[in-house]
Amino acid sequence: MKILLAAPRGFCAGVNMAVKSLDLALKHFGAPVYVFHEIVHNQYVVRSFESKGAIFVNHLEEIPAKSTVLFSAHGVSPAIRKLAQQRELLAIDATCPLVTKVHLEAIKFAKDHYTIILIGHQGHDEVIGTMGEAPEAIVLVESTQEVDRLEYQPGTKLAYLTQTTLSVDDANRIIERLKTKFPWIVGPPKEDICYATQNRQEAVRSIAPDATKVIVLGSQNSSNSQRLRELAQEQGRRAYLVDGPEDLSLEWFEPSDVVLVTAGASAPEEVIAKTLDWLQSHFQADLELREVRKEEVHFPLPRTLRMLD
Ligand code: SF4
Repeated sequence: MKILLAAPRGFCAGVNMAVKSLDLALKHFGAPVYVFHEIVHNQYVVRSFESKGAIFVNHLEEIPAKSTVLFSAHGVSPAIRKLAQQRELLAIDATCPLVTKVHLEAIKFAKDHYTIILIGHQGHDEVIGTMGEAPEAIVLVESTQEVDRLEYQPGTKLAYLTQTTLSVDDANRIIERLKTKFPWIVGPPKEDICYATQNRQEAVRSIAPDATKVIVLGSQNSSNSQRLRELAQEQGRRAYLVDGPEDLSLEWFEPSDVVLVTAGASAPEEVIAKTLDWLQSHFQADLELREVRKEEVHFPLPRTLRMLD
């Protein structure tokens, strides 16, 4: 067996910043530190923080007044920020700056009286947060079929934005359909799908043709990990999205396989290493690193934590 280990893979700058923020908050403020929603969509990361005293909640009402709460990398709506203030919570905002960029674009378009078509996945934490910036101005679409059902008169001020972790190809198809149907629609000054999502997809697109199977490390609720699995499948490769080696089955692989291993932006390197060990111990696999692009992006810690680092 041969393993083709993709790079870039795994943690992005936003996830690094969020994970480091929660670590520091636990060290400085002590347990428990409450986290609104999963810090990142990865079971390993969530469970490991639970063991250190983080408590993940889906409603701020679950948090005792005056406690410390951390907002996850996916961002929150203004209504959540306000509620945190009302409950006198010490809020640490670990929203990824690239999500904040989309929020700011939504605020600007809404202020300029645009109707905003947000391309994204219903129910995703990031989409809920972005829509909360201007709920009356934003319409969510998930597919080209949904674009076909939209009706706007020429002259209606229209803009589109996207979730940061979409499939680049799917998003482009939807944007093209929007531009065909509403040629006057405007977009963000710089595209919203983030560098990490784009780079991980680019790596799978370029390496998958040399592989027979693909393993994507990531959790089922991780949007960017799901997109990597779909991309590998679109290239005709059998692809498995798993949290770690414990989810793999020996029957899925042949000793003659060439296995592309990659990881979504929220999957830690530790899980990737364990997966490589599993393949190497069961199939005596050789390892080859395939780096398609270098990443050197870093985001600063939230202001509340910068002084403590
Ligand atoms: S995937 Fe992109 S938008 Fe999401 S946290 Fe990472 S860098 Fe930020």
